[in-house]
Amino acid sequence: MAPLPSENHQRWQRIVLSVRKEIMALSSEERQWIDQQLSLIGTLQTEIHDLFLSAQGADACAQCQGSCCELGHNHMTLANLLAAILQDKLPAAHFDRTCPFLGDNGCTLDIAVRPYNCITFICEDVEQALSVEEQNRFYRLEQQLRSLYIAFDERYLGSSLQGLLIRSQSMAGSLFLARR
Ligand code: SF4
Repeated sequence: MAPLPSENHQRWQRIVLSVRKEIMALSSEERQWIDQQLSLIGTLQTEIHDLFLSAQGADACAQCQGSCCELGHNHMTLANLLAAILQDKLPAAHFDRTCPFLGDNGCTLDIAVRPYNCITFICEDVEQALSVEEQNRFYRLEQQLRSLYIAFDERYLGSSLQGLLIRSQSMAGSLFLARR
């Protein structure tokens, strides 16, 4: 049976609290590694989003009213939460919505902290509005971005492209930032 919105909300609050505490306990080397990776992720996500905008992606999303966001409630990963906390850009999560970060005017997450699945998904309409060269660039950037997220997965126990809510269910009390 799927968890209730209130259960997901409580689980999410516990995750955020734990990751906030774990950040405070990081060594300077570990913090430096995270900052560098998050900076690269932010740059790539902005480049990918710029391609999406150049294909009139924002208009396409407004027309279908973000129906792909109806499947988004598990997308937020450890890398995204770290970025949102460290940049002080973590919006409130509303688990009674199809995605807890879907606001009245679209996604409430900044581009640099938005989940990999959200940044790299483009529907057929948007893809067709890109030239072949732009499509190739999009998929090159997507691969580079994926490898940065995988680096988080390989380094930290709590990191998975499945998203934090799913990952936390098999953590058995371990720290999210425990090294693998
Ligand atoms: S995180 Fe943002 S882009 Fe992703 S599914 Fe949720 S509202 Fe949509």
